Amino acid sequence: KPAIYWLRKDLRIADNRALSAASENGRAVVPVYIREDDGNGPLGGAQEWWLEQSLKQLMARFEKLGSRIILKSGDPLQILKTIAEETGAEAVFWNRRYDPKGIETDKKVKAALRDEGFKVESFAGQILHEPSHFKTKTGGPYKVYTPFWKAFSAEAHVPAPLDPPEKLNSPSRQPESETLEDFRLYTGKPDWAAGFRELWTPGENGAQERLQHFIDEIANRYAGERDHPSVDATSLMSPFLALGEISPATIWHAVSEAKNIDDTNRKKFLQELVWRDFSYHLLFHAPDLATKNWNGRFDDFEWSTDEDAYRAWTKGQTGYPIVDAGMRQLWRDGWMHNRVRMIAASFLIKDLMIDWRRGEEWFRDTLVDADPASNAASWQWVAGCGADAAPFFRIFNPMLQGSKFDPDGDYVRRYIPELARLPAKHIHAPFEAPHAVLKEAGVELGKTYPRPLVDHKQARNRALQAFEAIKG
Ligand code: FAD
Repeated sequence: KPAIYWLRKDLRIADNRALSAASENGRAVVPVYIREDDGNGPLGGAQEWWLEQSLKQLMARFEKLGSRIILKSGDPLQILKTIAEETGAEAVFWNRRYDPKGIETDKKVKAALRDEGFKVESFAGQILHEPSHFKTKTGGPYKVYTPFWKAFSAEAHVPAPLDPPEKLNSPSRQPESETLEDFRLYTGKPDWAAGFRELWTPGENGAQERLQHFIDEIANRYAGERDHPSVDATSLMSPFLALGEISPATIWHAVSEAKNIDDTNRKKFLQELVWRDFSYHLLFHAPDLATKNWNGRFDDFEWSTDEDAYRAWTKGQTGYPIVDAGMRQLWRDGWMHNRVRMIAASFLIKDLMIDWRRGEEWFRDTLVDADPASNAASWQWVAGCGADAAPFFRIFNPMLQGSKFDPDGDYVRRYIPELARLPAKHIHAPFEAPHAVLKEAGVELGKTYPRPLVDHKQARNRALQAFEAIKG
């Protein structure tokens, strides 16, 4: 009897426990991808583009192994039952999802299928450890990263990744499948994803190649250069991880075992990778992490409702080059460097005093690596209302951050061509540059590049006052 393998956030063949279990001993397998009503996440626009590319690749890979992915949209339980009837499958396997909606669906589908006599098994693999695995001495969740990391590294057991199956058998009766076009993931009109295509190779092969490149060429300068946005100094694994095209265990083991990486760089990288698990740990214990202040005191914070300012931020038109370069990178590439994510987020929350949830939403829609746990936890971290958060009063100064982490202005020049000819000395604060310098560089403030939306110093004081009001 065939088994159904239900694809979720695990668009890969290697280190895929559910697929390996479903196809064990040559059992015929029916791989099914279901576009759920919530769009599987829910996914934002940028990630839908990625998903389409990724599914295309994965379908071709399954075909090479002798199998065919069935595409369906609608309610997973009904679809799985119908496919079981059509193919005679008596078992259903999948890899668990850890976002609140995913957990709810998992539970519902598992209970209902078991009630009807199916063999059902779900597996781990989207994160390194189950989100409930680590507990503090008093039995509660961790709220601070360092002790979480300590507990994690004391245990330090990440199961070795599984090899991909060499061949997959198909059932004698094949169910009907929708096509990728039916999913209407990305219409391409207007073609806002043109920049993505230049930069990314979605899919399992793209993930493996990038990981190898990172290990061979980049990892040994990770700790020293990872904060410099103009340099290719991070792994770029995040979009692949977001849809499960590579498992975190694969990355963990590859980096842990690579002989060319020294201990400092290795540890720094693994610590960052575990932030992802920590974010899922927080989300598991606070399912409304993306919408509710972890620290309830912030419920009384008086956010600004200035829509023009919000729009300027989304478009990279705030007048602060490092913020604008980041927001334009996000729009063009679907990704933003971590350092700049922090600066741009801080600017929205503290300089513009706009609710962090608006930023979380925008990132969710525009990031190819949008992740329900990392995005929500990071926004709360920057806002200062999160579990292990930067204090609210630590407000990033966009000019100083720019000078420190993009000292030559290369990053700003790459994304803001209208400032390309400004000398490094003025590139992070064109509004302070002498008139003659601006003229020479062809910059006309208010025309070719915006004047600053707010004065950072004043904005900072305004934010601190608003914070004082909720502090007591
Ligand atoms: P590397 O530096 O190579 O790190 C390796 C991996 O570790 C990453 O792929 C990621 O999975 C994990 N990681 C690194 N830093 C973090 C972190 N701070 N939190 C959680 N995981 C981390 N990351 C997302 O994957 N999705 C998001 O939606 C997301 N939203 C963010 C929003 C804000 C406001 C901020 C400040 C950060 C956000 N991050 C998010 C975290 C981080 O910016 C990205 O994971 C990182 O930039 C991805 O690039 P990389 O793979 O080259 O990272």
